[in-house]
Amino acid sequence: MAVNDIIAAIATAPGRGGIGVIRLSGPQRGLDAIVGEIIGRPLRPRYASFVDFRDHDGATIDQGLALYFPAPHSYTGESMLELQGHGGPVVQRLLLKRCLELGARLAEPGEFTKRAFLNDKLDLAQAESVADLIDASTAEAARCAVRSLQGAFSERIHELTRELIDLRALVEATLDFPDEEIDFLKPADAEGRLRAIQQRLEEVLDASRQGSLLREGIHIVLAGQPNVGKSSLLNRLAGEELAIVTDIPGTTRDAIRQTMEIGGVPVHIIDTAGLRASDDPVEKLGIARAWTAIEKADLVLLLADATRGETAEDEAILKRLPPQLPSVHIMNKIDLVGHAPVVDTQEGKTVIWLSAKTGAGLDLLRDALLKAVGWHGAGEGIYMARERHLQALSLARECLQRAAGRGGQPELFAEELRLAQEALASITGDFTADDLLGEIFSRFCIGK
Ligand code: GDP
Repeated sequence: MAVNDIIAAIATAPGRGGIGVIRLSGPQRGLDAIVGEIIGRPLRPRYASFVDFRDHDGATIDQGLALYFPAPHSYTGESMLELQGHGGPVVQRLLLKRCLELGARLAEPGEFTKRAFLNDKLDLAQAESVADLIDASTAEAARCAVRSLQGAFSERIHELTRELIDLRALVEATLDFPDEEIDFLKPADAEGRLRAIQQRLEEVLDASRQGSLLREGIHIVLAGQPNVGKSSLLNRLAGEELAIVTDIPGTTRDAIRQTMEIGGVPVHIIDTAGLRASDDPVEKLGIARAWTAIEKADLVLLLADATRGETAEDEAILKRLPPQLPSVHIMNKIDLVGHAPVVDTQEGKTVIWLSAKTGAGLDLLRDALLKAVGWHGAGEGIYMARERHLQALSLARECLQRAAGRGGQPELFAEELRLAQEALASITGDFTADDLLGEIFSRFCIGK
């Protein structure tokens, strides 16, 4: 990084607002020069000073608060300056322009947090949770992201890593010092410890999957014959009139998306064009889109009309669904047949009897769809996780599984542990080759 590489950006959301914040980060000398030009006097560190922000000719651009955080006690770990002026787009741009004239450059997206990571203020998983917190679409997702930001997820990864390092140290010690009498190393113990780590990894993976659901939301497709009540159900769930409801089959021609919150989890529901054979070109297009949405979904809700029961057409739709895709069947319009709202589970198939019109059975549906995608409730143990983390955890799991099959071959056993550790290290962004050596020798008296 260049010594004078100062980044600047408007940190508040675009548009008009009470306050607009310009944020700068970089080496102290360069920032001091900018402070001298814009404010005209040095700032007392970590104190809010009410000042004029001045242009090159001394004219006042704005008035506001200036905050100065000398390195390393700042978000990025570099020296930082915050100029809090009025939240108007023009005045903020003028102030930013002044900063750029004085040698700062426009920050790239996420560059403040990237610098925080490079300066060890945050690890990679924490840095990612900053973005996740900002993007959180439900209160539960926000709480979860904060826990990750505070390091709850990273701490679990570090715990696992420490256990792996311990185990590797034990196993690799037998490789490096074959003549030593290492009475504490019993193969059975190594395998037992491996099992314990595998168990812990499963717990972390499970909690991460929950976090990932909170982050990504659940993608649900409403499918079924025309007129079974898909649009009515979407409206009911969303609590507002979104899709057009009529009794003319084929009204919903395009996919209508709506994001809502069910039990704290963001849920994206797509109401699809009724899946039926059609000659209408527009309707055909809608039906094709519905199938595309289904391919990408986490769950499909297959609706049928209780007055008709499941028809041959419903069976045909069911057969065309991707085999791995979880589904929940719905018998809608129970108000017309006098059926009670119930969940009927038979041979792994869940059928919810409900009425989109009266709302009876909607709670059963909400519970069932969360359950179908593996959500088992928020709690302190859940932290925000991304697909990348899930992949790394799954990779670590595969390595540990392979290690478990290689108890009799210490070299291969150790190698799989190393690969698992590397996968975990990719989550927090640290790499630990030297750490391992240190760990081994710290346990041994080398003069012995
Ligand atoms: P879609 O084509 O599958 O989206 O079906 P709509 O939501 O447009 O509903 C078709 C018709 O069924 C409309 O007249 C709705 O008012 C009616 N309908 C939907 N759900 C129910 C229900 O639970 N009970 C009753 N009685 N009518 C319903």
